[in-house]
Amino acid sequence: MRDFTMRMYRELCLSLLRNGYETQTVAEFFENPASRVCLIRHDVDSWPSNALKMALIESDLGIHTSYYFRRSPLSVNDSVIKGIVSLGHEIGYHYEDLAATDGDYEAAIKRFKRNLEFFRGYYPVQTIAMHGRPLSPWDSKALWNRYDYREHDIIAEPYLDLDFNVMAYLTDTGNCWDGEKYSVRDHVVSPYKFNVHYSDDLIDLISDGKLPEQFMLNIHPARWNDIWLKWMIRYYVLTVPKYLAKKALKQYRRKRDSI
Ligand SMILES: [Zn+2]
Repeated sequence: MRDFTMRMYRELCLSLLRNGYETQTVAEFFENPASRVCLIRHDVDSWPSNALKMALIESDLGIHTSYYFRRSPLSVNDSVIKGIVSLGHEIGYHYEDLAATDGDYEAAIKRFKRNLEFFRGYYPVQTIAMHGRPLSPWDSKALWNRYDYREHDIIAEPYLDLDFNVMAYLTDTGNCWDGEKYSVRDHVVSPYKFNVHYSDDLIDLISDGKLPEQFMLNIHPARWNDIWLKWMIRYYVLTVPKYLAKKALKQYRRKRDSI
């Protein structure tokens, strides 16, 4: 079966259910964590209609997950967000305010508040997750060195509030499950290391009981496509050049930092 399709996504969801994993939204987990649980965090960077397709697959299986939207025309789609809310999933804000304001902290917190209000027009947003913006020198999480998101009634930022010594973290960055090492910002410090590349490998890990009791899957719906043309565009036009650029950027930063 071709990987990173909606059909494969359904198989992945089914493997969680077959192996006794509960699913919770990020907010639910922070309020009342289940002991054997998979948190599915969707970063809707672009192509929001794919997010709605995933939300429908999940609802069909009785799974609830979290969808983080950027305040960008690439990500926001009114009917998609309303659709996902109506299916009972969580909506969060995929923030990039410090990168968007080129490191201007005051402008960034104002932008953050404005955008949070925008998404709260759809859903009572309680959690946020950083959007990496690999080509920006600014890590938007640094905003929280100066401000506190809890003052804005946010209960959690997964990158900062989850204990990755307990919870394993797997991301589909780069259209594979071991691309984290090439990502500039989508990675966490964790003792877990898995031999996993394809979604089939991930399903095997789940079925063979090789994942811990708690893990998070970070999924970018834009990367999962049934239509060959979209799949090819995503992979060859968007992913491979981006991967090469990120690799070069990482090498450059490593060299620069070692001087
Ligand atoms: Zn993102």
